[in-house]
Amino acid sequence: QVRVRFAPSPTGPLHIGGVRTALFNYLFAKKNGGTFYLRVEDTDQNRFVPGAESYIMEALEWLGIAPDETIGKNEKFGPYRQSERKHLYKEYADQLIDSGWAYYAFDTAEALDEQRKHDEEQGKTFIYNHTIREKLDTSLVLSKEDTATRIANGDHYVIRFKTPVDETLHLKDIIRGDVKFETSLLDDKVLFKSDGMPTYHLANIVDDHLMETSHVIRGEEWLPSMPLHVLLYRAFEWEAPEFAHLPLILKPVGNGKLSKRDGDKLGFPVFPLEWTDDSTMTKSMGYRENGFFPEAVINFLALLGWNDGTEQELFSLTELIDKFDLNRVHKAGAKFDPEKNKWFNHQYLMLQKDEDLAEAFTPILEAKNIDATKVDLVKIVSLIKERANFVTEFWEMSDFFFEAPTAYDAKAKKNWKEETPTLMQQLVTVLDEITDFTSMNIETIVKDWMTTNGIGMGKVMQPFRLSLVGALKGPHLFDIVEVIGKAETIDRIKKAIE
Ligand code: GLU
Repeated sequence: QVRVRFAPSPTGPLHIGGVRTALFNYLFAKKNGGTFYLRVEDTDQNRFVPGAESYIMEALEWLGIAPDETIGKNEKFGPYRQSERKHLYKEYADQLIDSGWAYYAFDTAEALDEQRKHDEEQGKTFIYNHTIREKLDTSLVLSKEDTATRIANGDHYVIRFKTPVDETLHLKDIIRGDVKFETSLLDDKVLFKSDGMPTYHLANIVDDHLMETSHVIRGEEWLPSMPLHVLLYRAFEWEAPEFAHLPLILKPVGNGKLSKRDGDKLGFPVFPLEWTDDSTMTKSMGYRENGFFPEAVINFLALLGWNDGTEQELFSLTELIDKFDLNRVHKAGAKFDPEKNKWFNHQYLMLQKDEDLAEAFTPILEAKNIDATKVDLVKIVSLIKERANFVTEFWEMSDFFFEAPTAYDAKAKKNWKEETPTLMQQLVTVLDEITDFTSMNIETIVKDWMTTNGIGMGKVMQPFRLSLVGALKGPHLFDIVEVIGKAETIDRIKKAIE
C-alpha cells in the first residue's frame, strides 16, 4: 500500500519548490493507487506564521492536487497537525532513553559555546558526538539519581539521539542510488526539549511510522537528515520507508538554489498564490494572480527534475499520473526558467475555449467600465489570443476594439504623406458602399480598389491601421474592421485625418 505525504512547516507561504514536492508525492500516490496525505509540521512554534497553513491548503486546492487525507478530511490517522499530537512524542522519546538510544543533556548554551570555541582553536569543526556526550553534563555521565533530581528540579534539558560510533551507513535512495554516510560526522541531534515539544526529527519519524508512510519523497535539502532518520527507525525497531530526495531547483541565472529574492528581483513569481508578509506588508507575486493556469504550473513543475524520456513537454495531470516514475527523476539540479513558464501558459491558453477566455476577460473589462455587450467578445479573443501568454494581457492587446484611439503613434503619423488624407477620404467612400461588411469581403473590395487605381499597399494599409488602432499593432486589419463595424471604422478614419 503506497502512502506518501507532504509535510510542510507553516513558516510562510508555500514556494514553488514545496509545490513540486507536493506534486511528485501526489503523482506517485495516484500512479500507484495509493494515498497522498498532508501533515502540518508545526512543532517549532517560534517559526510559526499565521495564515501559512490555510495558504498551503488553498494553493494545493487551486492546483488540483489536494491531499486525500488531512486536517478536516478523511482523518483516519489524525490529528494531522503535529502540535495536536504533542502528547504522543514524549512516550517515544522515553522509549529511546530506556533502550539506550537517547540520553538527557543538561548542558547550557555557554558550555556548548565554550566547547565549540575550544574545538575551533584546535582546527576542528565542532560535532556533538560521543566524545562530547561523555564529557559534558549528560545522563551518560551523571548517575540515574542525579539525572532524576535535575529533571525534577526543572533544570533545562534536551533529549539527544545517541549516534552509533564509527559506523559506515550504506543507504538507498530511489533517485540517488546508494548513498554512504559516516556516523562519526553526525551530531547527536536533539529529539525532544524540556518545553515538552519534540524536534522535527523525532516528530517526523514517529508520525511517518504511525501514519504508515511507505515512501518519503522530499527535497534534496533533507538528504543530510536521512542517516539520522534511518537510525531512528533502527532504534525503534520499525521498518523504514523508502526514500527519494528530489533535485534542487536552481535559479534561472547563475548558480545556486532558487530563492524568493530571485523572483522578487527578476520579476517572476515563486509562490503559487499572492502572499503578503504581515510583518513587513510586502507583497510577493503569485502565479494565480499573475494569470497562470493551474494546469500550466503543474506542467512546468512536473518537468523540474523529471521527464518521460521523450521530447514531449505538454502533459495533462492525468497523463502525468500515468507516466510518472520516480526512477526517471534526475539527481542534477533543475534550472528554473520563468520565460519557459510563460510559454507553457500560452500553450494552455490556446487550449481554452474562446467562450471561456471571453468570460475570463469580462471582469477585466468591467473594472474598466467597458460595456462588452456591444461587441463580439468571443471573436475578439479569438483574434488576439495567439500572441498572448495571459488573459491579463488581453486588454493591452485589444483596447482599440472597445475604444477609439485617443493618440497616434508619433513615428507612424510622421510617415504620412501629403496625399494620405485624400487617400483616406477615398477609402471612406469605398467602405461606405460595402453592404456585406465581413472581413474577407472588405479586404477583397479594398484591395481591388487599390489595384485598379494603382495605389501602393503601404500607402493605404498603414494609415488605415493607425487610424483604427492608434499604433501599428494588432491582428489582421480587416478582422478589426469587421468587428468594430462600418460606422465606427469610418468615424475613426475621419477623426485621424481631421
Ligand atoms: N517539515 C519538513 C519541511 O518543512 C518536512 C521534511 C520532510 O519531508 O521530511 O519540509
